[in-house]
Amino acid sequence: MDHVRRWGEKRYHSLDSDLRSKYGEKIYKITLNGGMTCPNRDGTVGRGGCIFCSANGSGDFAGPAGLSVREQLEKGKKELLAKRPVRSYIAYFQAFTNTYAPVEYLEKIFTEAVSDPDVKILSIATRPDCLGRDVLALLERLNRIKPVWVELGLQTIHEETSRYIRRGYSLDVFDTAVNELRRIGIQTIVHVILFLPGETEDQMLKTIDYLNRSGIQGIKLQLLHVLRGTGLASDYENHPFHIPDMEEYIRLLGKCIARLDPDIVIHRLTGDGPKDLLIAPLWTGAKRTVLNRLNQYLKENDIWQGKEFYG
Ligand code: SF4
Repeated sequence: MDHVRRWGEKRYHSLDSDLRSKYGEKIYKITLNGGMTCPNRDGTVGRGGCIFCSANGSGDFAGPAGLSVREQLEKGKKELLAKRPVRSYIAYFQAFTNTYAPVEYLEKIFTEAVSDPDVKILSIATRPDCLGRDVLALLERLNRIKPVWVELGLQTIHEETSRYIRRGYSLDVFDTAVNELRRIGIQTIVHVILFLPGETEDQMLKTIDYLNRSGIQGIKLQLLHVLRGTGLASDYENHPFHIPDMEEYIRLLGKCIARLDPDIVIHRLTGDGPKDLLIAPLWTGAKRTVLNRLNQYLKENDIWQGKEFYG
């Protein structure tokens, strides 16, 4: 079958298989903290941030902001090398909004990352409303040195849900950003949260269909996590909403994978929230078990990425 030839054992276009085919080896991510904040927290766009976002700005695994980028990279390498032989890395600026600073500062920290000979890719998580002309010009320059990825937290295409999660920008802002990033040859990876309160299965699949047509190169699918100290945690406590068990989540993932354009690389299918903050769902902590069960489910039901994309 075509998918077996292209993606090894997996029935989907995983990041791991994509990188192995392009670089001939596994590439590991080092999560970095550029010391920025977010316009959705400091009052520029909103206060309090997105309803699900932890105090660390969704960068709970990122390096300490007190260290320079070079020091964070060295620390990350040391930790990875203690477990396995690794030679190549993705420098991933994860915490908060990583283009929300003067462009001179961004140039300094991103250049520090791409100058490391072991860093093969620069990946930057940000908001689509934080990609001004000067930032785009910088990303275009950096992309000539090493591949640059931009990760955008869209979560959903549905305006009502986006208002509930307090995302703070509309879908057309996202569309414009993706078009601009495509124009300058930057790879765009989009984060989607599944099982946001009030969303039906049909709505979640519509988000996938929309992204198939939007010109993106990668996707991160993640089940909603309720983290301590967030607005979502208060809502969950006051009016508990539906959180799926593992089987329900896997059934939905199967549908998303079948609909997804096979050219879109899947960077994530499940998440493991920080254990000290995670309120629900607790079963996501066993990430390996979830992925094994997903692979088994796809096989049992003869599902592969793109099966329903063309028809
Ligand atoms: S845009 Fe990102 S960093 Fe800012 S509040 Fe939302 S999830 Fe958190």
